[in-house]
Amino acid sequence: MQVLLLMGPPGAGKGTQARRLVEDYGWAYLATGDLLRQEIQAGTPLGKNIQALVEGGKLIPDQLIVSLVEQQLQEGRTYLLDGFPRTVGQAEALEALLRRKNARLLGALFLEVPEDTLLARIQGRAQVEHRADDSLDTFRIRLEEYHQKTRPLAAWYEERGLLRRINGVGSIEEVHHRLKEAIGELLKQA
Ligand code: AMP
Repeated sequence: MQVLLLMGPPGAGKGTQARRLVEDYGWAYLATGDLLRQEIQAGTPLGKNIQALVEGGKLIPDQLIVSLVEQQLQEGRTYLLDGFPRTVGQAEALEALLRRKNARLLGALFLEVPEDTLLARIQGRAQVEHRADDSLDTFRIRLEEYHQKTRPLAAWYEERGLLRRINGVGSIEEVHHRLKEAIGELLKQA
């Protein structure tokens, strides 16, 4: 198994870019936010447990998300992980999990988008998708969670020589192209 990470602040376009990349490369796609929203919609015990946190823009506890991811990953595939890990604790758990499975982390792609651009995008998305966690207030909480807990992961992956920063401002095509260049380098290095 091989794993590549796509990270970035809320509204950076991770989902849009991830779907294109998995099509280009034939990878499996795992988006923890999608998984959690499915659990909430299906009204499972886990879904009921986490609904208030997710809809309020807060991260759910590491243990819950790590076991959910562990259940999904299958041997022999290459995964693009969207939205996981989001804390140093999750990154450590992922490292241990990959070691146990003899799997390789190819790299961490960090989409960088300035805050005013994110705010403009999220307002548009809230109107189109009606996601319960996309109100402006909730978005600010999500952004704060990102700065406090997820952003430090850039340094964490940089120390391991796995970080690639990608300018996330521009058309979907432009950002897609930059991501493919970075992925090309990571695959060469692997
Ligand atoms: P996303 O669709 O990736 O923006 O995720 C939506 C929401 O799901 C987040 O705001 C969190 O509440 C929750 N979530 C998704 N992934 C994680 C994660 N790795 N750790 C904790 N909470 C998460």
